[in-house]
Amino acid sequence: MQFTQLPVANEILQAISTLGFEETTKTQALALPDVLSGKDVAVEAKTGSGKTLAFALGILQKRITQPVDANPSALVLCPTRELAEQVAEQIRLLAKQIPNYKVLTLFGGVAMGPQLASLKHAPDLVVGTPGRIIDIMGKKALSLAGVNTLVLDEADRMLDMGFAEQMDWLLRQISQNSNKPQTLLFSATFGGKIQTLSKQFQHNASVIKIEEAK
Ligand code: ADP
Ligand code: MG
Repeated sequence: MQFTQLPVANEILQAISTLGFEETTKTQALALPDVLSGKDVAVEAKTGSGKTLAFALGILQKRITQPVDANPSALVLCPTRELAEQVAEQIRLLAKQIPNYKVLTLFGGVAMGPQLASLKHAPDLVVGTPGRIIDIMGKKALSLAGVNTLVLDEADRMLDMGFAEQMDWLLRQISQNSNKPQTLLFSATFGGKIQTLSKQFQHNASVIKIEEAK
């Protein structure tokens, strides 16, 4: 599938083309129509299948076409600092033509002061690890009340790393938002715990399983 066949705004399509991407990966072709229509989606696909774009386009398209209650309007949970930085970098490139679009990363292992300072102007999107996000919420520096898209990226690794309780807590917070938040779950494996998580927090989710790498 060509990206131009998808219901995505021109400013996003131009950024995709600047990155040199024309054809979607198989994962993107199967996931993006549901992601863009606002459905809850659970995707099982291996590393390297292009999962970041599959949720990034949903977040950015919604930001362009729907009113924002409060920033951040999107939250991406990742298992590690490295993954959070990679995801943030990719989304910054895709958002180049959305004026003043701000992505902030929040992860542990570094001082909290600069992160608290950068939250003075709430970013459009927060990408981070569950523990640090909850710590920062405890300092009243971040509210998730405006979040309309929540992504669990590498959900299986987050569970393996012991984040289950924090993920549950964050999911429960966000599911109370009045804007009926969309939840997108991505995982390389789809074991019982991931299925439970999906059943517990997603509504009529499309479950998409991709066998091959792309
Ligand atoms: P995953 O999260 O599934 O491991 P990523 O989203 O990190 O995969 O993407 C893997 C690599 O493929 C990245 O370098 C990304 O820039 C590239 N990529 C993603 N989508 C496409 C595409 N449609 N065409 C070409 N390259 C792509
Ligand atoms: Mg990934």
